[in-house]
Amino acid sequence: MADDAKAVWAAAIPSRQGELRDAHGRVKRKLRLSLTDRCNLRCLYCMPEHPEWLPKAQVLRREELLRLARLFVTEMGITHLRLTGGEPLLRRDVVEIVAELDALRSLGLRRIAMTSNGALLDRFAVPLAAAGLDDLNVSLDARTPEIFHTLTRGDIEPVLRGIDAARAAGLPVKINCVAIRGHNDAELLPLAEWARTENLPLRFIEFMPLDGRGAWSPARVITEAEILAQLRQRFSIEPLPRSNEPATYYRLDGHYRLGVISTVSKPFCSSCDRVRLTATGELYACLFSPTAADLRGPLRAGADDAALAALIRRQIWFKEAGYIEHKGYVERPLTMHAMGG
Ligand code: SAM
Ligand code: SF4
Repeated sequence: MADDAKAVWAAAIPSRQGELRDAHGRVKRKLRLSLTDRCNLRCLYCMPEHPEWLPKAQVLRREELLRLARLFVTEMGITHLRLTGGEPLLRRDVVEIVAELDALRSLGLRRIAMTSNGALLDRFAVPLAAAGLDDLNVSLDARTPEIFHTLTRGDIEPVLRGIDAARAAGLPVKINCVAIRGHNDAELLPLAEWARTENLPLRFIEFMPLDGRGAWSPARVITEAEILAQLRQRFSIEPLPRSNEPATYYRLDGHYRLGVISTVSKPFCSSCDRVRLTATGELYACLFSPTAADLRGPLRAGADDAALAALIRRQIWFKEAGYIEHKGYVERPLTMHAMGG
């Protein structure tokens, strides 16, 4: 939509306090906060081969991040925060950030979660739990060390140690696995068996066109139907009722719950309740949005909360329908590690 048309529509944007809503009627409850674009792994599905990190001066400082988080919680009805990246544990003040977010609970915040590659978790699990982190998603795309290495350029051992450390610290852990044809097809069943034995919730994620090195193609996507067909070789599978979560859940062998996030083959955009803030303070209404609203500029120029809130509401109001609209690569110089997955 052209900018002048947006301006006319902007006058009609409801500014009701306590709710962040888009024009499709979807209310936002979840905010993903990217703490950094930097990463200690190089997953081929997530970032270019030779990433250029953003200059540090462009990354939101802790107090800026916390001011925005507070605004989202107190003025916009955001109840769930997820810290992500890049790798959020590379941010030196990650524990302080969690502790300061924890203070927002009395203002309406219900959960503080994190998505991590797990490689540094053995060092951080105890302080994160003490600071108030509620739960963790850890990415693990293979159980075979060589395949894990091919996908991520990293070692699996620290990740497995990190998962153990997080559980020992009392943090609930879920495993995420991106399924990519030609890379980890043969890992899906062993991962499911391992996760069931370990009693770790597992979610398979369809490969999305956000990798930035041209690795994605429809042919590389192992769809939900194909994942289920593989699982049926070993497990009985029963679908569970759908909720607002991005994953569709299934019960395996009568007791183990496993999810599949099928953004590509079965987009769940109509129930999407999340928005994303990059490490540099750009607000994306959707993973597939071609444009964002810059909050850092106005923040550093002295904008008050009312002005920031108006900017946020406008950006979210114009949220697109979602992946349903795109069905392919999004043309923008930003891949998953910089967006915050
Ligand atoms: N470094 C952390 C990690 O790996 O969990 C957090 C950031 S990462 C971008 C967040 C999630 O996005 C991970 O679960 C990762 O597997 C997923 N992801 C990254 N690129 C993806 C893609 N092209 N398609 C599907 N999922 C992707
Ligand atoms: Fe790093 Fe996570 Fe992206 Fe892998 S998925 S490169 S661990 S940000």
